[in-house]
Amino acid sequence: MSDLIEPRKVDIEYETDEPVLYRSADGVAWITMNRPKFHNAQNSQMTYALDAAFRRAVDDDAVRVIVLAGNGKHFSAGHDIGTPGRDVHKSFERAQLLPDHTNKPGAELLYTREQEVYLGMCRRWRDVPKPTIAMVQGACIAGGLMLAWVCDLIVASEDAFFQDPVQRMGIPGVEYFAHAFELPPRVAKEFLLLGERMSAQRAYGFGMVNRVVPREQLQAEVEGMAANLAAKGRLGLWLTKQAVNHVEDLRGKRTAMDAVFHMHHFAHAQSDLTQGNPLGGQDARSMAAGNKQQGDA
Ligand code: ZN
Repeated sequence: MSDLIEPRKVDIEYETDEPVLYRSADGVAWITMNRPKFHNAQNSQMTYALDAAFRRAVDDDAVRVIVLAGNGKHFSAGHDIGTPGRDVHKSFERAQLLPDHTNKPGAELLYTREQEVYLGMCRRWRDVPKPTIAMVQGACIAGGLMLAWVCDLIVASEDAFFQDPVQRMGIPGVEYFAHAFELPPRVAKEFLLLGERMSAQRAYGFGMVNRVVPREQLQAEVEGMAANLAAKGRLGLWLTKQAVNHVEDLRGKRTAMDAVFHMHHFAHAQSDLTQGNPLGGQDARSMAAGNKQQGDA
């Protein structure tokens, strides 16, 4: 085995064995990201736990509705690009029919990994046969957007904000490229090119968010909506969400996402070739500092 494809050995220190919490009651499964110390940054430990939680909710006939939430002050600050639990170079039992990424050379490593843990998983979650509600408070940044967007409905608190700053890494948006479907094209360009925060209220104006409520009412609002859905017929709910997802795909959502995923990986590869870093020389600290500078628009 050449050095090039020797798996990189990286120390990983998980702060929890439960990166995702699961509970179900009264027809509703609550799937909660549980890395509040790191603003629910998504490592593979978390994405695989999320996938297992969706599997569990799908398998349980008593579950009619799925809520996706984030523990703590923020929904999700995005993909893990710098916590002690960052596990990019760790192998997991795959959820799709894909090979292990860790021994792959060059750009193939990230390409294989992101097909699995980002694009592949988000598409699976978007298509689960039960209605899903994202309950969003605080930051919903980059990879956080992907988790909110795969849900059928989004309820946000007034303090929630949305942001995709990855253009600063030289990347044209996160892996699940739904920006120009979630927002009108010119607004999507502004969102991506400037990378500024978008308030929940502004997102509501574009239909990206279904409801905006005060922070203290967020839980009750989602509970009410989930109870309403849980009382409806299972198959009817599945067919209804599929109908709209199908229309989105006919409008090109899936094919556009495939095309942009490849641009995304061209950008990762270009950064790696020219700077020796697939994130355009950025890390968690520099991104966090930059995100704050580009505060509320
Ligand atoms: Zn990526």
